[in-house]
Amino acid sequence: MSNPLPSPGLPCPALALDQSDALIPLLDPMAFPKPRSHRAEKRDRRAQRRAVIGAVRAELVNRDRRCRVCGGLFGWGEATAEMHELVPRSRLRGRSPEEIFNRQNCLLLHRRCHREVTEHRLILAPADASVGAEGRVEVKTR
Ligand SMILES: [Zn+2]
Repeated sequence: MSNPLPSPGLPCPALALDQSDALIPLLDPMAFPKPRSHRAEKRDRRAQRRAVIGAVRAELVNRDRRCRVCGGLFGWGEATAEMHELVPRSRLRGRSPEEIFNRQNCLLLHRRCHREVTEHRLILAPADASVGAEGRVEVKTR
């Protein structure tokens, strides 16, 4: 017999350990909480992103009282205010929502003017790259 059981006269080795720091944490289920599901993580990230977009949009509604392309007032239909990103989100993939949606990168355009920009018939170029949409933005035709 290579590994004999302790004889009844000897103390159990497990009981010799200080249970307050050795055994209890291993037995505490909260020491290894179940990880949050990817679905829950994704839901939270999406909600966070929506909150950032909503906050920036609310600030832009106050800053850009008129379309940054044509200067016209916003209204309904084709005159609805849409938020445009100077550096497109496709080029900022993987960045935090705050890095994509902020006052420097976003401005409000008419729906019809936004289409002209997204379909590359118009080009928006901030006069000062360091302030982006917070400063003057030049509108160029292609
Ligand atoms: Zn416009």
